[in-house]
Amino acid sequence: KNSNHLFQGDENMVLFSDIGGNEFAKSSLQEIIDYIKSPDDYSSYGIRLPKGVLLYGPPGTGKTLLAKAVANECGANFLYTCGSDFVEIFVGQGPKRIREMFKEARSYKKCIIFIDEIDSLGYERNKQSLCKEADNTLNQLLSEMDGFQESKGITVIGATNQPDILDKALLRPGRFDRKIKINLPEKAERCDILNIHLSKRMTDVTQEGVQEVAEITKNFSGSELENIVNEASFAAYRRARKNIRQGKIRNDDIKECAQRAIQEKESL
Ligand code: ATP
Repeated sequence: KNSNHLFQGDENMVLFSDIGGNEFAKSSLQEIIDYIKSPDDYSSYGIRLPKGVLLYGPPGTGKTLLAKAVANECGANFLYTCGSDFVEIFVGQGPKRIREMFKEARSYKKCIIFIDEIDSLGYERNKQSLCKEADNTLNQLLSEMDGFQESKGITVIGATNQPDILDKALLRPGRFDRKIKINLPEKAERCDILNIHLSKRMTDVTQEGVQEVAEITKNFSGSELENIVNEASFAAYRRARKNIRQGKIRNDDIKECAQRAIQEKESL
């Protein structure tokens, strides 16, 4: 009925335990979840719930996963949108979509609005002043964020790889109050992420194998690590199809896939 996609049910049931590393981000978001679950405890201390949380950092590091996990962990509805969904060629469509999104959010008891690539609607206004339509869309977002009370069960989570180009008005208190940096995973975090994705598949990979892959995949993001595990699953499946032993992922599968991914990364 509109451009927002509502995720519900098990398919998208992401929990914090499905997300490797990012301990700081998780504990910062856990506080938001606790607040949403028991607002009275916090408000009795005069604390207000951040209206917006900005997750910023390189692509594929789990920003969308974290936002989904927040929604699931606090039993809120999750509205997924992308900044570019609001960048319209037809006059008035961008602001209208923002209004509709907040209207839908208000119809739920608790709702997390996730805006991925928020930079594509929230870049600094005066630098793009030729584009009036984009300015109007951003203004609408700002006024919607000003318009709701913290206690009304709506939290906006924005994600971006380019926080430096955002309009300063978005970063002011009362808008994206809390900013959380998401980094590329360190070695121990890469082990965590590999183990999370291996645990969802048939595998004979040992912890030594995981360590070895984590060691050589410096600067790899969570999504690139997931892809290595997926490629290793393909290798195991190909073996199973040929009936050569079981189709479980082996140490040499995942190591070969990691080496190939490293070469690809270097050549791109
Ligand atoms: P983008 O900035 O490109 O939107 P993102 O930071 O939102 O990326 P996600 O969409 O959350 O990244 O991650 C993409 C996929 O990568 C996930 O579905 C998951 O399979 C894997 N992934 C990324 N980070 C992690 C992580 N920390 N733990 C486990 N899996 C991860």
